[in-house]
Amino acid sequence: MSQQPVIIVGGGMVGLSLALMLARQGIAIRLLEAVKYPENASGEPATYHSSFDARNTALSRRTVQIFSELGLWEKLSQHATPILQVNISEQGGFGKARLQAHEEKVESFGQVIENAWLGRVLLSEVRANANIELVDGIQVTSLQQDAGKVWVTAQRGSDQLQFQSSLLIAADGRDSFCRKALGIGVDEHDYQQVAIVTTVQTSKPHGQVAFERFSKNGPLALLPLPGITGQQDSYRRSVVWTVEKGSEQQWLGEHNDQQFLQALQHTYGNRAGEFTKTGKRFAYPLSQVLAHSQVSGRVVLMGNAAHTLHPVAGQGFNLCMRDAHVLTRYLSEQYQAGQDMGDNARLKHYEQARLSDQKRVIRFCDSVVRGFSNQNPLLKLARNTGLVAFDVIPGAKQLVATYAMGLKV
Ligand SMILES: Cc1cc2nc3c(=O)[nH]c(=O)nc-3n(C[C@H](O)[C@H](O)[C@H](O)COP(=O)(O)OP(=O)(O)OC[C@H]3O[C@@H](n4cnc5c(N)ncnc54)[C@H](O)[C@@H]3O)c2cc1C
Repeated sequence: MSQQPVIIVGGGMVGLSLALMLARQGIAIRLLEAVKYPENASGEPATYHSSFDARNTALSRRTVQIFSELGLWEKLSQHATPILQVNISEQGGFGKARLQAHEEKVESFGQVIENAWLGRVLLSEVRANANIELVDGIQVTSLQQDAGKVWVTAQRGSDQLQFQSSLLIAADGRDSFCRKALGIGVDEHDYQQVAIVTTVQTSKPHGQVAFERFSKNGPLALLPLPGITGQQDSYRRSVVWTVEKGSEQQWLGEHNDQQFLQALQHTYGNRAGEFTKTGKRFAYPLSQVLAHSQVSGRVVLMGNAAHTLHPVAGQGFNLCMRDAHVLTRYLSEQYQAGQDMGDNARLKHYEQARLSDQKRVIRFCDSVVRGFSNQNPLLKLARNTGLVAFDVIPGAKQLVATYAMGLKV
């Protein structure tokens, strides 16, 4: 059976990664992305310089494994750094916990990569892949389907274009147009928090240690970043600081760099030495958005369109990659057998197969945020006792390490 290209709407980190996974199985893809990608983003390593103003992502070991299978890790790893230790603590509390990769008998808990680099490598691979037709600068504005096909109308400048296929994958983000067009509702929880994201430099090298510190403002994550080329140690760290919604202007604009660094120092203490430099700061409003269904007819929701999580435990993209990997297996089987890839019963099987991993990660992230947001003194005591216990109870660390590594798939 000859198949029309599978349509993917949305070329963010998930849409690009999924396109590469499917194309590797020989499946033809048409990727529609609203944003016009920069022409110069073909991304040769020699022209890349580490920046001080980009978002970063902690990739679990499982995600690294998936990128390795795709033949991309060698290139991606040029600007990634491993996490060898994770320290968890609470401001004003006595409990703390420490996870070490060598104790868990793994070479690292995962890798931190700059999104600018990840996006650049993915985009250049997509552009070079003969099985993928990339159509950027095009906005999908309507989606319809019947028993045999799904079709979208899209706007590109003054042109209106139509594309049809037997399968459409909607990777169009948290506010997914496709999800709304299908009438799929969501459970949404606004955490009333905003993540302030930046890159800082400290006087002590990070030694590949990641920190998660729970402050009264919200969790503060400090991740190790690759060093500046030519330097042996790296002093660069990624900051994801959760603050109360409404206070973000203070951190973005009202506070100058010096005031921001002082606030960071106050919250974090001296473990990293002195905070000496900060990059530009960005704000991301935080909510949890869970689609009531991830499959409708011939359409599958993927990435943030299916589930958007709080970034507290760095699980969102990693979970999406496991979804994409399993979907690729299902679709590849259909494709190899010459069967309809948009077959609803098969897509529903995929959805069922992913639910338990998704539910576990969603529950884990949500309970970490809610558990540490409460300032009730009894809860605080329980938390600190928990953190101390976590360091001494056999098995407790392994459980969290398994989450951090994303090895439960
Ligand atoms: C502060 C922060 C830190 C994070 N850190 C981590 C981490 O360390 N580890 C981790 O695993 N996860 C992390 N995450 C989560 C991770 O960033 C997301 O899971 C991931 O970015 C989701 O990507 P996506 O491609 O699904 O969505 P998006 O990045 O939103 O991409 C959607 C794409 O669809 C396009 N689009 C939208 N509408 C249309 C349309 N109508 N037509 C055509 N195209 C359209 C958009 O232009 C966009 O390119 C973090 C998130 C935040 C906010």
